[in-house]
Amino acid sequence: MDKADLHIHTTASDGQSSPRAILALADRMKLACIAITDHDTLEGYLEARELEGDYEVELIPGIEITGGWEGRECHLLAYAFDPGHEAVRRLCRRHKRARLERGKWIIEQLAGEGIELDIEEVKVEANWGNIGRPHIASLLVKKGYVASSREAFIRYLGDHALGPIESDYFEFDEAVRMVKEAGGVAVLAHPGRLYTASERRALAEAGLDGIEVIHPSHDWETQKELEAFATRQDLLVTGGSDFHGEADGYHGHFGVVAVGRAHADRLLRLAASRKPEPAQHP
Ligand code: AMP
Ligand code: MN
Ligand code: MN
Ligand code: MN
Repeated sequence: MDKADLHIHTTASDGQSSPRAILALADRMKLACIAITDHDTLEGYLEARELEGDYEVELIPGIEITGGWEGRECHLLAYAFDPGHEAVRRLCRRHKRARLERGKWIIEQLAGEGIELDIEEVKVEANWGNIGRPHIASLLVKKGYVASSREAFIRYLGDHALGPIESDYFEFDEAVRMVKEAGGVAVLAHPGRLYTASERRALAEAGLDGIEVIHPSHDWETQKELEAFATRQDLLVTGGSDFHGEADGYHGHFGVVAVGRAHADRLLRLAASRKPEPAQHP
């Protein structure tokens, strides 16, 4: 079966592999198609696009957007949009800033626990890419505050430990609109354990085109339930490994947790029927 891995991170956000390393790995595993979906940035995808010709793998434009929803943060995967479109460029600019400010806010919370971290160190840890909690977790390990990233999330950085995080991300439904404006397809990321059935329906009503059914966090029963939901709501099915690096115990199943190529083709057909609109936002 021709396989597609539609959920992959690089060093442009919290992944550990460069865009070139991802292409080389995809080539070696003979994947037909991949999407680099970094958190709120196109930098990894844009770098990979320049190198695509060296490898026998099709690269679909992708991104994983963090959207605000009911005081929470929800992840939205977007595919096959025009990467130069002002709507996505604007979203990336705002979210890069939002991530920086949120990083500073997290550092303040940690200071209250007697932990000393500087935002400049976090920027270096993130290699000047988009800042995320995994970069802070790595620093906590390096500085000896915790033994592992896992412990950092359990004790300090997980949603339960931090409580509501203050951030300036676009709202989920607004992000969906911007993706479509840029001619792309909007997909709810890893919904498995995160939402109740009614929350899932409410999110779908924001205008989703698809849901991520195949993901390392979904067991077989969850997959079947999400597949049935997709059929009922007439949503596309996507999937991927959510790869963050070989050494990442949290998710390191590159190209194994994947979907058939036909799913990527369906997504591309929908995007092709949706021409990018001129940007509506000033
Ligand atoms: P952020 O983008 O700052 O909201 O951080 C979320 C990222 O942290 C996710 O994309 C994962 O890569 C990572 N993550 C979330 N939960 C955990 C966890 N429990 N252990 C390790 N990494 C996690
Ligand atoms: Mn991540
Ligand atoms: Mn995610
Ligand atoms: Mn992800």
